[in-house]
This record gives sequence, structure tokens and C-alpha cells, in this order.
Amino acid sequence: MSEIATRLAAVQERVRAAEADCGRPAGSVQILAVSKRHSAAAMRAAYTAGQHAFGENYLQEATEKQAELADLALEWHFIGGVQSNKTREVAERFDWVHTVDRAKIARRLSEQRPPDHPPLNVCLQVNISEEPQKAGCLPDDVGDLAAAVDRLPQLRLRGLMALPAPAEGFDAQRRPLARLRELQQALREGGHHGLDTLSMGMSADLEAAIAEGATIVRIGTAIFGPRE
Ligand SMILES: *Cc1c(COP(=O)(O)O)cnc(C)c1O
Repeated sequence: MSEIATRLAAVQERVRAAEADCGRPAGSVQILAVSKRHSAAAMRAAYTAGQHAFGENYLQEATEKQAELADLALEWHFIGGVQSNKTREVAERFDWVHTVDRAKIARRLSEQRPPDHPPLNVCLQVNISEEPQKAGCLPDDVGDLAAAVDRLPQLRLRGLMALPAPAEGFDAQRRPLARLRELQQALREGGHHGLDTLSMGMSADLEAAIAEGATIVRIGTAIFGPRE
């Protein structure tokens, strides 16, 4: 087995154990392999080991790797900040965007999504720890943003995403993740019945995220090793 296959198997095991620990069905949590600053060869090794969904943060880097991996049936998720001059390429090249945090970006993504593509799957990024410099809409604004995204024909609103401030210990990690789950629940009760995705949890806090209902955990280092 390649080193990446071994690491991926260990992450899969962590996810299965966490699902079991909180009584969630096996397979209810999807692993998104975050491949930023890792090579196309590393991604190919992960694919061979059974990983099909990849998250990229930088458009230029992702475009190069998409060309190198065009022979594979991969699912591409954009998880970096979306600048408004990059929306066209993101809308054309990705299956998911996890980082929509304002209506203007959402409108452009919908307008620029090619009509022969299925609607782009979208998560709203929420600045759940309300950190001053951090991307994401504020928790109080998520309802308005969700309503705006819902009206856009070429987007499909799937759920919420957060990158909480790093915290030590299970209980401290759980608190902001619980808040994201509660926000999602409030949106559902407010009429957004199709929301089925909570994108939260990384290498260091995936157990806490799964305990709070994550459906996608975004894992880089634990699969690919340290980034350069
Ligand atoms: C880099 C990154 C990750 C993965 O982080 P690791 O600590 O390497 O697992 C997850 N989510 C986002 C948005 C990232 O930018």
C-alpha cells in the first residue's frame, strides 16, 4: 500500500469509529480530501485507494491538476475564498463550492454556471466564531443569504460550512460546531427543507464535528501529510 493509502485508511477508520460512537449510520459522513499544495500524483494515489472527492483552495493550482487528472472521474469541491473575478472559472470547473459568503458572489456563480451543467452545489460559509478577519457571513446574516441563494436557478443550496477558531479538547471544539448545526436546523425549520450538508471538521477536530452532525469532513494533512 502507498503511504497515502495507509493514511487514508486510518482516516476512514477514524470516521467510522466516530460515526459509531455517536450512533450515526456507517457511511453518513463523507471524506473530502483537501489536496491544496499536494501534487496531482498524490491525488492519483488517493483516488487509487478509493477517494473520489477532492477539495482545492486555489483556482490556478486546481486548474493545472484538473488537466493532469482529466482521465479520472473526480468530484471537485472549491473550498477557498471566491474572488468575484474568478467566479466564471469556479462555476465552470467545480461540482461544489463551500465558501459562498455573500449574495454578489452567489449571483455571479449562478449566472456563469454553464446551462448544460447541473446546478452548482453550494454551502454558505459562516464565520461561526465571529473572528474579525475571517471569511464567512455572520450567523445573523445567514438567513438572508440563504433566501438569496435559493432564488438562483443555477445554484443548489446544500448547507453550511465553517472553519472555527482552533480549540483544544473535545468540548471546546464542539461548541462552535453545535452552533453551526443549530443554524442549519433553524434554516430547515424556516423552509429550507433541502439542506442536507454540514461541511465542518478537519484533521484535528473530525470526531467533534461528527458528534455535532457533520456530513462532510475536510481532511488534508491526515491524508496527504504536511504541506510544504
Ligand atoms: C486546508 C483546509 C482544510 C484541511 O486542513 P488540514 O488541517 O490539512 O486537514 C480544510 N478546510 C479548509 C477550508 C482548508 O482550507
